[in-house]
Amino acid sequence: MSLLVIGTVAFDAIETPFGKTDKIVGGSATFASLGASYFYDRIKIVAVVGDDFPQSEIQDLQKHNINTEGLQIKQGEKSFFWSGRYHNDMNSRDTLVTELNVLEAFDPIIPEAYQDCEYLMLGNLSPQVQQTVIKRLTKRPKLIVMDTMNFWMDIALDELLATIKLIDVLTINDAEARQLSGEFSLVKAARKILTMGPKYVIIKKGEHGALLFHEDKVFSAPALPLTEVFDPTGAGDTFAGGFIGYLAKVGTVNFDNMKNAIIFGSALASFCVEKFGSEKLRNLTQQEIATRIQEFIRLAKFEIELS
Ligand code: AMP
Repeated sequence: MSLLVIGTVAFDAIETPFGKTDKIVGGSATFASLGASYFYDRIKIVAVVGDDFPQSEIQDLQKHNINTEGLQIKQGEKSFFWSGRYHNDMNSRDTLVTELNVLEAFDPIIPEAYQDCEYLMLGNLSPQVQQTVIKRLTKRPKLIVMDTMNFWMDIALDELLATIKLIDVLTINDAEARQLSGEFSLVKAARKILTMGPKYVIIKKGEHGALLFHEDKVFSAPALPLTEVFDPTGAGDTFAGGFIGYLAKVGTVNFDNMKNAIIFGSALASFCVEKFGSEKLRNLTQQEIATRIQEFIRLAKFEIELS
């Protein structure tokens, strides 16, 4: 049994109202696998980097019990590079640069030892590659979670729709849910996306929390009002990684466990935004996570007696 994470392992350059970074390590698979590693210790990644990617960063993933046998290193090629600038509200951003580099011809090879995967996290990546991974698994995983973004809706909508048909849970942010569905109301957007294939849709609303939709049920999770938000990059991937990592740990997929998984995912995402890149996710303790979960419980708890 294992959790397979695919996505980008990349370099990012980020600008926020608080500062600017040179190239730092990011990528959807990096954030998602680190997020999941706090709940589950049989994580395997499939991704690709160039020979410019530091070996020490790969070792750091391994220290988090992340198996990197499926991480391809392409000699003479450059890693995926993304650069973004956040607006003053820190909720919206502009992509400044997307250099696909090694991603352009990425063939996701699944090592034999990965075929025991029961949980599959399709991190943000070309939908064609996401679909290839599903098809190359000899046994369909018990749970397939997929994350995506506007970039792929703009350039590969047909492939995206074909991949969405094959999955169980789609995590998507509010603006992207509106773009994908053509609906402004998030409830209508989620209902429409549910007709496209997934059984569950999670709409991430940044500093306003997340909504889970399944059949006619809805769950609303808060986001912690944080004093310091330094850099939201990777929060969505960290959320998704924490979400599926928690479900892999409890081993039963149902609506109630998903509600808890959303809170655990949100707690990890709340750490991620407190420092640039994935820095804060490198050295968290279980005690810090438990304390933050308590804050979520306090924040959302109220009692009303109806007469
Ligand atoms: P998030 O803030 O959760 O949307 O994720 C940000 C991460 O996604 C960054 O670390 C980027 O390296 C990565 N990223 C940005 N654009 C893409 C893309 N088109 N495909 C895959 N990963 C991307």
